[in-house]
Amino acid sequence: MKKLMLFLFLIPGFALAQTHEENIKKIFDEELRNGHTYSNLKYLCKEIGNRLSGSPEAAAAVEYTRQLMVSYGFDTVYLQPVMVPHWVRGGKDVVKIVNSEKLGSLELKSLALGNTIGTGPSGLVAEVIEVSGLEQLKQIGDQVKDKIVFFNGAMDPTQINTFDAYSGAVPQRGSGASEAARYGAKAVLVRSMSNRIDDIPHTGNQRYNPDLPKIPALAISTQAAELLSKSLKDQKNLRIYVESHGEMLENVLSYNVIGEIRGTEKPEEIIAVGGHLDSWDVGEGAHDDGSGCLQAVEVLRLYKKLGLKPKRTIRAVMWMNEENGLRGGTEYARVAKEKGEKHIAAIESDSGGFLPIGFSSTGTDAQRTKFQSWKSYFLPYQLWNFEMDGGGADIGPLKDQGPLLIGLEPDSQKYFNFHHTEADVFEAVDQSELELGAAAMTALVYLLEQEGMD
Ligand SMILES: [Zn+2]
Repeated sequence: MKKLMLFLFLIPGFALAQTHEENIKKIFDEELRNGHTYSNLKYLCKEIGNRLSGSPEAAAAVEYTRQLMVSYGFDTVYLQPVMVPHWVRGGKDVVKIVNSEKLGSLELKSLALGNTIGTGPSGLVAEVIEVSGLEQLKQIGDQVKDKIVFFNGAMDPTQINTFDAYSGAVPQRGSGASEAARYGAKAVLVRSMSNRIDDIPHTGNQRYNPDLPKIPALAISTQAAELLSKSLKDQKNLRIYVESHGEMLENVLSYNVIGEIRGTEKPEEIIAVGGHLDSWDVGEGAHDDGSGCLQAVEVLRLYKKLGLKPKRTIRAVMWMNEENGLRGGTEYARVAKEKGEKHIAAIESDSGGFLPIGFSSTGTDAQRTKFQSWKSYFLPYQLWNFEMDGGGADIGPLKDQGPLLIGLEPDSQKYFNFHHTEADVFEAVDQSELELGAAAMTALVYLLEQEGMD
């Protein structure tokens, strides 16, 4: 047996694979024994908290992650300036049924959607009309004039990947306000983007069509949506009071935060790994996306700790403003192009700090084939799914520069219990699941910097 092993070591490919396996094992062992990801996430969540673009907390998060990477001794740590929108909620959101024959006056748990205008301090009252989505709104058109449109399209429970269900339901949130305003509606209520029934409203982005009037838009909890829908069946003339205070202020100077370890053999080839530093203004942005940011910092920290020297340059990036503008991701790609940088791959973790099951990708067939050939290195750590299409919002703008775009894919079943809510707090993240994600990203970065993408 010993002779056989010695013989196998003389074959270069086999020896290399052995080295890779050993280094990947070191990465996972070190992270699971002595990882910093969880305690760093705790700091971000508990000492800084939620951090919507333009807020003082977003600025504090920039400074925290910059200092953290400096303290780890990465080769270069720098801030990349970017102007971001600054939306504020401005006060407590209120949605109330005011004339239910059965229930009297009843408050529904709500949260104004991001980037929305408010109702003014005295609120507004109107009859409410339910639609299942943008398609049905178009069919009934003018019937919604002077009313509040209630979008009650649910996420499809039969989609195994809950992000697919989210994609199916989210257009009513993204453009429902403008589409309802097209027919003269006064405001919109949107069923929260969640695949379970509970009383937690989910905020999220919406975009006004500049050619149409702006009207207030609020999410209500799935439980409230079920109740409202049922009540409307009993009583057609239900009236609802809506009060919200959202306001878009002047743009603010903010930053992408970048840390780098320079490659020893091909420093001009870059592998970026990251998440987005901004979050919504409720909860602590733990899964979305504090997890991804601190996993990315951890990738470079593990390199330092284990004394690994990357052949190619590896870069941790905390993008700013994914939630309501994507300005950070857009600016990062613009600067990369302007400087003539060559990204061979970009990895984003923005699907929560849950148990990783694989990586999705977008790229050429050759790139994807090479990437998928590494799957066997991950099977011992129970990452098995390398076939999904995907990537990440912040790395999307790099696409035309040709890198392989990669997304860390955790199990998605619980993500939409927390997404954009007050429940997305540090306690909702499991330490070993978070760390497995960080180790998996490090192992993939390792294979990318060792093997390249040619
Ligand atoms: Zn996110």
